[in-house]
Amino acid sequence: MTHQDDKPVYVTQPFLPPLEEFIPYLEDIWERKWLTNNGHYHQELEKSLCEYLGVKHISLFSNGTLALITALQALRITGEVITTPYSFVATTHSLWWNNIKPVFVDIEPQFFNIDPEKIEAAITPKTTAILPVHVYGNPCNVERIQEIADAYGLHIIYDAAHAFGVKYNSSSLMNWGDLSVISFHATKVFNTFEGGAIICHDERTKKRIDFLKNFGFAGETTVVAPGINAKMNEIQAAFGMLQLKYIDKAILRRKEITNFYRDNLKNIPGISFFDECPNVVHSYTYFPITIDSAIYGKTRDDVYSELKAKGIFTRRYFYPLISQFPTYKGLPSSNRENLPVANAVSEKVLCLPLYPDIEYDTMKKICHLFHF
Ligand SMILES: *Cc1c(COP(=O)(O)O)cnc(C)c1O
Repeated sequence: MTHQDDKPVYVTQPFLPPLEEFIPYLEDIWERKWLTNNGHYHQELEKSLCEYLGVKHISLFSNGTLALITALQALRITGEVITTPYSFVATTHSLWWNNIKPVFVDIEPQFFNIDPEKIEAAITPKTTAILPVHVYGNPCNVERIQEIADAYGLHIIYDAAHAFGVKYNSSSLMNWGDLSVISFHATKVFNTFEGGAIICHDERTKKRIDFLKNFGFAGETTVVAPGINAKMNEIQAAFGMLQLKYIDKAILRRKEITNFYRDNLKNIPGISFFDECPNVVHSYTYFPITIDSAIYGKTRDDVYSELKAKGIFTRRYFYPLISQFPTYKGLPSSNRENLPVANAVSEKVLCLPLYPDIEYDTMKKICHLFHF
């Protein structure tokens, strides 16, 4: 066994540009002595991301979860919010931190996003908004969700944590909904170590969001809301500027890896994965497969454990469902009968390692293990 084979392989590895290229940014920050509070790089990154993503306004945050919590505050969302149990737990936590009751609606079986046809039945007089997630960067049925929101007078906030750079019908997916929230966590396609942002469509909302992330300050002595401290600092923002130079290359590499998996895992009975969605430009955030144990002969958990024993750490995104965590288990909508598709998918899904620096031999080894 070579040393290479001993190295554990994780589901993801953060993309880092060459360290020496970051030093000049640090020197500049030391020179400016402005470390946070809408500094030079903060402004640069907001501008550059608007251009890169093709969105009107963006407000940077210290992480995606605080951006979600603040997005709900910005629109004064209260009461009940309709959301999906098939996501990272922060989606629902953001409701809890705002004292909002989550109402879980099942997912559709094609892309594992919230099923729009099941939303209306979950609306009550207390419902004020819908919080869907573009899971794995595959767009929700945004047209149908907008129709429902318009008919019932509801807000839409998309958790777009997986959707950096995704385009739908040639426009940023984040142009849909009232607000979209994105994460720049180390494990995401575009990272600033930790980080996040809210995307909005008008200047007034952008201003309110900017107040809220800075304690509610609207001027030196004016506080207009009980805001929080969720500002992105200059080191994070400068790092984002450097990352932007590499992002296209990183996404292209993700596409190549995705295609490799697709070519090498096709025609295995019991193993399925998504095809490219029509009218979508992807950024290849994850490579999830589903394992039908009756056909494949092994369960998802068998495969997960076997790979783990060989040093390959896949992740069961998303298992358990958010509705199964103790905080949310007691909610009426967490009932298994209410969420049959989400429960079934969460027991057969597995995300394979996908990151720009993954080695060819590692991918080959992973695929080989599926042809047992
Ligand atoms: C990563 C993620 C978040 C949280 O973002 P952080 O930046 O880690 O706080 C929220 N929702 C989803 C779907 C995520 O994947």
